[in-house]
Amino acid sequence: MRVHLINPNHLSFGVGVITPRWLYVMAAATPRSFGDPLLVDESLAPTDFTKIKAGDVVGIGIHSGNALRGYEVGQMARARGAYVVFGGIHSGLYPEEAYELGAAHAVVKGDGDVVWARVLADCANGGPQHLYEGGRIEADQFVPARWELLPPDRYMWASVQTVRGCPKHCSFCSVWRTDGQRPRQRASDVVLEEIVQLRRMGFRFVALADDNFYPVTLEDLELARRQNNQPRLSELQALREERFELMARLAELPRDMVFFTQITMEAADDPEFLKAMRRGRIKGALVGVESVTPEGLKAVYKEFNSAGDNLVRRLRTFREHGVHVLGSFIFGLPTDRPDTFEATAAVAEEAGMAVAQFVLLTPFPGTVDFQRWEKKMESDPTRIAGVPLTRYWLIPQALRPKMYMSHPVMSGEEILRRTQGVWDRFYRLPSIWKRSLFMKSLRARLAFVLLSKVYRQMYANTGIATDSARVNRAARWARWLAKPCRRAFHGAPMPELQVPLSAAPPARETHGADAHAPVPPAQARVERRPSGLVNLKADP
Ligand code: SF4
Repeated sequence: MRVHLINPNHLSFGVGVITPRWLYVMAAATPRSFGDPLLVDESLAPTDFTKIKAGDVVGIGIHSGNALRGYEVGQMARARGAYVVFGGIHSGLYPEEAYELGAAHAVVKGDGDVVWARVLADCANGGPQHLYEGGRIEADQFVPARWELLPPDRYMWASVQTVRGCPKHCSFCSVWRTDGQRPRQRASDVVLEEIVQLRRMGFRFVALADDNFYPVTLEDLELARRQNNQPRLSELQALREERFELMARLAELPRDMVFFTQITMEAADDPEFLKAMRRGRIKGALVGVESVTPEGLKAVYKEFNSAGDNLVRRLRTFREHGVHVLGSFIFGLPTDRPDTFEATAAVAEEAGMAVAQFVLLTPFPGTVDFQRWEKKMESDPTRIAGVPLTRYWLIPQALRPKMYMSHPVMSGEEILRRTQGVWDRFYRLPSIWKRSLFMKSLRARLAFVLLSKVYRQMYANTGIATDSARVNRAARWARWLAKPCRRAFHGAPMPELQVPLSAAPPARETHGADAHAPVPPAQARVERRPSGLVNLKADP
């Protein structure tokens, strides 16, 4: 019985940007008695189904964006006599789809790290259960990935997770509902071990693939202090200190390493944290700006962000501390007007962002937005290929609309056209070249230009374009550009590299809101938890 793990994708590029972490975590969660699993990332190449034999187990991880391709893969695998098991955010929300459309024998809900061994044992013993509840495991049970199974020369950046969950509650995001609002933070030892393994292999760029790298804000600490809530304050301080400890240890790694992550804008008000990021060479951060207007921020429950001049100031603060921002904006909010597009492009440029993405408001399953939209659409008779719009992920890719939610003053076509216009403006070659000025060497500047172009081709043209000729052209371009890009991001392997010893965080300035807080030792913090889970956004 061989185990196959498949990351479905309807387009293949030959080279990937970020390693699909879940494949390598689930490979590690596969008991060695079953041998090394066969890992397939279809964003590199489609599945070769001739390798699947009767009695094998095929694990397929899906989010809403790749669910339809995942179901095709499930049917083909089952036709070859394999046990088919679905996991991932979408399967947890719609398990019945996996059975009906994906030919699933079993579905795993929640974190798969621990329950996967039981699924495999059941398959080996004659058949899996219908449903497995993986739950939300604690951080000390997160399984470190088996990076030695990575194919050589295929990915630009590696991905390591340091924390699951996000305390916020943005209306368009499913993370806080699926991964929970309580941050589950990994100890720095296990994170460092994975990073060192990756640098030994030649990876210099590592994405800290977290829901929110800044789970405790100064405001959270101040609130707990004002409420005189000592247990809460201690818990928050412990989480914060663990972040500092991790960043101090990242600083001990080879100087050619670069990290980037996802973070909320509130970190701009925390210079101590930004300085630690700089020391730890966390040089890039995806910041969900979402909207440049206060009305837009209110609409998405993100009033902790800023608008206007304050927004530009906060974003520039990141850059002043050596942290370059990948700004993420949403278009199509009910509060957007035709002039919002121009204003957004201007903010992205004025704020000195290194990279930006301009995504269309999409009701993702599992979000508050989806719940409201689904209710509103109950009587909507629209069907595409027989599928109601509220199940849009089941509409064949070529027929799938790009926009689902009606807008009070603009048509879907107008929003798409204006969005494409902003992408075009931001990613003009002279603009990219100007933005690359922060890079020190010509080689680094050229790598930045290449990466910007790949990013734009992979996302803007394949994600927003409505005609298939443009999508195919963009995919060809991305394939062509991705290879030199990958070479630019790698360094010579360092097989002798050792994990830096655990060190006390360097002395820090103490002007922050937690300045006088007692700091418990890191080990005590880890043990205090009871024993007991990724487009950058949760569900693309
Ligand atoms: S969008 Fe970001 S900040 Fe908001 S809930 Fe999701 S992960 Fe948290």
